[in-house]
Amino acid sequence: MTYLANPTRYSDMTYRRCGRSGLQLPALSLGLWHNFGGVDTFENYRAILHTAFDQGVTHFDLANNYGPPPGSAEENFGTILKKDFLPYRDELIISTKAGYTMWPGPYGDWGSKKYLVASLDQSLKRMGLEYVDIFYHHRPDPNTPLEETMAALDLIVRQGKALYVGISNYKAEETAQASAILKQLGTPCVIHQPKYSMLERWVEGGLLDTLEKEGIGCIPFSPLAQGLLTNKYLQGVPEDSRAAKPHGFLKTAMITPEKLEQIQQFNTLAQERGQSLAQMALSWILKDPRVTSVLVGASRPSQLLDSLECLNNTNFSAEELEKIETILK
Ligand code: NDP
Repeated sequence: MTYLANPTRYSDMTYRRCGRSGLQLPALSLGLWHNFGGVDTFENYRAILHTAFDQGVTHFDLANNYGPPPGSAEENFGTILKKDFLPYRDELIISTKAGYTMWPGPYGDWGSKKYLVASLDQSLKRMGLEYVDIFYHHRPDPNTPLEETMAALDLIVRQGKALYVGISNYKAEETAQASAILKQLGTPCVIHQPKYSMLERWVEGGLLDTLEKEGIGCIPFSPLAQGLLTNKYLQGVPEDSRAAKPHGFLKTAMITPEKLEQIQQFNTLAQERGQSLAQMALSWILKDPRVTSVLVGASRPSQLLDSLECLNNTNFSAEELEKIETILK
């Protein structure tokens, strides 16, 4: 089957500027952490990627360790890129990261220049790319000088292996420091990837303000709390869900009766808004103009199509916002 992209793919998607950079990202981006690895089904993840691009989702997010096994998501993405997306390479924003354990020994983890440069070289090979659009440092390293990690990002851009750089999981203060170093080097930090959802609010305690001040875009990950912020766990744990998979990072122990009670109330509110709970959870993040794009996962094309509908209603009344806070108390 030859893939031909939907000719109207740009008609309904909203693109938002990433901080004060020249880069624009779709309001919704697709992450390949789960469902694109060696344990997953080729035709299914291929269909998810087609569905995404056909709807104007131009941004695919990867990392060296996505799978399982680690590296397999990049390999699989590389295969599909070669088969289907090569004619569209200049329409795509492909990101990858390094910062978590990737290979044994002292050079396969954290934030040294040795690790970041080698890891990106491996990622490029796995994906069959000459460069990625965004390269991230995946998490702060308490033992490597920040200057070294940021110098590695700057080097990678100067080598032409990445166009933009970003950081992930850095706290507000660490972000300000990283941003200052990168600005001095002449390679500004363009994007920050933090965990943020209705259930995970840490970014509101300073990070979003720092990002705005520094002109850095924000792309929250796990906006559905890995599937918790949907209606899927209200009647138990479905067999094909992330929580039921041995390699899934969402554990059944995290689905407590208290959580389910909150989710039930969110679900009712979403229905009153005429949205699915997943849509409401995504809209709730997108209501903040400091957010560039919301980074979702999907285990099938229909989920992505459902999630995309969130773009039709990102406004919340004061009463609705208050209700959400009351549910969370
Ligand atoms: P989400 O919170 O969006 O969870 C995705 C899961 O939610 C899906 O696998 C699916 O679960 C379920 N789901 C998605 N859409 C719907 C829908 N419309 N209706 C019902 N259920 C739905 O995000 P992820 O946790 O997958 O994270 C997204 C991306 O963020 C990752 O792929 C990765 O790129 C990035 N990330 C970055 C991290 C970092 O440290 N920088 C850490 C974690 C993620 P099911 O599989 O059960 O069907």
